[in-house]
Amino acid sequence: MAEAGSFADRVKQQADIVRVVGEYVRLKKTGKDFSGLCPFHQEKTPSFTVSPIKQIFYCFGCGKGGDVFNFVREMEKCDFPEALKIVAEKCGIALPSPRERSPEERRETQHRTLILEMHRAAQTFYSEQLASTPEGRVAQGYLEDRGLHQEAIEQFGIGYAPSGGEALVRFLRPKYKDEKLLADSGLISRDQSGRLFDRFRRRISFPIANEGGKIVAFGCRALGDDTPKYLNSPETPIYSKSNVLYHLDRAKEALRRQDFAILVEGYMDAIQVARAGISNVVASCGTSLAEPQIKLLARFTRRVIVNYDPDSAGQAATERSVALLLEQDFEVKVLALPP
Ligand code: ZN
Repeated sequence: MAEAGSFADRVKQQADIVRVVGEYVRLKKTGKDFSGLCPFHQEKTPSFTVSPIKQIFYCFGCGKGGDVFNFVREMEKCDFPEALKIVAEKCGIALPSPRERSPEERRETQHRTLILEMHRAAQTFYSEQLASTPEGRVAQGYLEDRGLHQEAIEQFGIGYAPSGGEALVRFLRPKYKDEKLLADSGLISRDQSGRLFDRFRRRISFPIANEGGKIVAFGCRALGDDTPKYLNSPETPIYSKSNVLYHLDRAKEALRRQDFAILVEGYMDAIQVARAGISNVVASCGTSLAEPQIKLLARFTRRVIVNYDPDSAGQAATERSVALLLEQDFEVKVLALPP
């Protein structure tokens, strides 16, 4: 453990508590220190302070305080090793590579890293397609009709997967030559003859991020009458539908501050709610909530308002989700809006 200890010391020395806390709390410089609204208790005037000199935080309202690791542990509801990892990552400090990792594990890690990278590349590609192609402009018109203008497009990284079927393949191919890797990413599919083609075609793309804000999948809505209307990424080495809640990466602070979540069905719903200024919203991105998603949410709050579609599928999904939430000791309310 001596080595782990020295690594923790090194991270603590190099980490900037103001920068780390600043990712969760809006901080303002006040003299030598920074202050903001406390993320651990409800308040209207800031009594939460961060000292860059002492590298500690302290709240005069609720008395919580400590170093950068205490802060992250409290915010993320995680243990010390996990907090250490998060802080190191946020500050760009490389983790020591565990000696015992097998070649197999190393290959898998590398495979996942490449797939994550491909998702970032695909995100750039889809954004450019939306911004600067004739097809993309049609998609922009569709979005505008739904009140999603430039600001929302940028905020949520909305893009466009063009028709044709090989645009993304051509874009990724020069850098990612391994066909298995391309197919494993879920962004590219393979037909019976082995030919590679884009999974998402003529669709508006919504990046789906994991809790840490990394893009792990896409949800795509057909622009025309193509079926299915919504097509999401398949299960991949970096994405499991039941482990991800859409918008959680951006909702964390509000969830904690307000201590309740609004649960909606799809990413479009979540975006509309968030655009209306209600940021403690998450979407299950499927017809029903899965147990791992509930456990994920429980780290932030145990109070939920379920607001699924008022149609019959939505009703059934509401019932299933409520039952599961109650099983996990959640306090649940159902918000039914008129159709
Ligand atoms: Zn406080």
